[in-house]
Amino acid sequence: MAWAVRGRSSAVFGPSQWRGDRSRRSIALTFDDGPSPGTPPILEVLSRHNVRATFFAVGSNVERHPSIARDIAAAGHDIENHSHSHPLFALKRPSFVEGEFARAQAAIAETTGRFPKWLRPPYGVRWFGFRAAQQRLGLQSVMWSVLGLDWKLPAPAIARRIIENIGNGGIICLHDGRGTLDNPDIRPTIDAVRRIVPVLAAAGYHFETVSELLWAPNQPLTTN
Ligand SMILES: [Zn+2]
Repeated sequence: MAWAVRGRSSAVFGPSQWRGDRSRRSIALTFDDGPSPGTPPILEVLSRHNVRATFFAVGSNVERHPSIARDIAAAGHDIENHSHSHPLFALKRPSFVEGEFARAQAAIAETTGRFPKWLRPPYGVRWFGFRAAQQRLGLQSVMWSVLGLDWKLPAPAIARRIIENIGNGGIICLHDGRGTLDNPDIRPTIDAVRRIVPVLAAAGYHFETVSELLWAPNQPLTTN
């Protein structure tokens, strides 16, 4: 059961993707839990290297920091759905699951004018109600292939983990917030992004948004 709930490729509660085509040297940088006051420095690093990323925003954080949410979208990054209040979905009612994603969908659309196409569940935990919520809201679920553990490791260790574990089609999960904290300290994440982007670019990786990485032409669906 634990595998079904947390397993990144488990389909028990609805299909989820977690990596792209292994034959293309493309990867996706993703950031969960924002926006927060730590987001702008990340946008700055991405802009300097001309890299686009995917931000899985928390709806209540979007309402708290609407101008940062608009800056994410205006910079050409994708802004997607990471629930409204970042709850742990295990043991919750299906209607609660759907309500959380519907509320975040509305907050993101009203603030940025963008309609998310992807969701990522908080803590990677899916539960009863996910399949129906995804279908009704038109959202696909996406997890990751490399977790930075950036909420607990120092920047050099985060960067090393990512560089050692990345591969073609990889999806990197980092955090530009911490749940619903108002002003979290995400300096290790910012520093790690500064370190990894030039290294990965020099290794020949092309940075894509999750939509580009997973919806590329001739992309065999990795849904399982
Ligand atoms: Zn999260």
